[in-house]
Amino acid sequence: MRAYLALGSNLADPLHQVQSALDALAALPQTSLRAVSSLYRTPPYGPPDQPDYLNAAVLLETDLAPEALLDQTQRIELEHGRVRKDERWGPRTLDLDIMLFGDLTLNTPRLIVPHYDMHNRAFMLAPLLEIAPELVFPDGTPLKTLLATLDSSAIRPW
Ligand code: ATP
Ligand code: MG
Ligand code: MG
Repeated sequence: MRAYLALGSNLADPLHQVQSALDALAALPQTSLRAVSSLYRTPPYGPPDQPDYLNAAVLLETDLAPEALLDQTQRIELEHGRVRKDERWGPRTLDLDIMLFGDLTLNTPRLIVPHYDMHNRAFMLAPLLEIAPELVFPDGTPLKTLLATLDSSAIRPW
């Protein structure tokens, strides 16, 4: 199965966090890291009183089940010092979100795929477009079309 993940970090040396996360993703069982986007610098989504984010997208080819992949990405987040706070969208060392898992549509207490808010987030879609220019969402919408409806002007190279 092809799984697209979004990476984000804005604490404790984001470049180091993301490079280390890429190593951890490349080492996952039953999984290959197939593509990595450029690294982008983006303004915070939500509370503005926090550092800019480093965002990127990756493609994994995996035989893991969706929940098993989430177990792995949450383990990697914790190993990178992720602390879940009450404030939503607050600063974090590492966020690994599953954007897409093949053509699956899932809505369980732990996992919503496609990611529930990615259609509003240029910082997720722009890196994704770089590694999947022809991607079409399970509902038939082309990624390109969706991204064209958003403002990408604040997204810069890291
Ligand atoms: P957002 O999800 O709005 O980007 P966030 O990434 O900061 O916010 P987290 O604290 O990382 O949110 O995750 C909250 C919960 O979201 C996790 O416990 C996880 O079970 C759930 N979740 C649901 N769908 C997904 C998904 N597609 N990828 C990762 N986590 C998901
Ligand atoms: Mg997130
Ligand atoms: Mg998350």
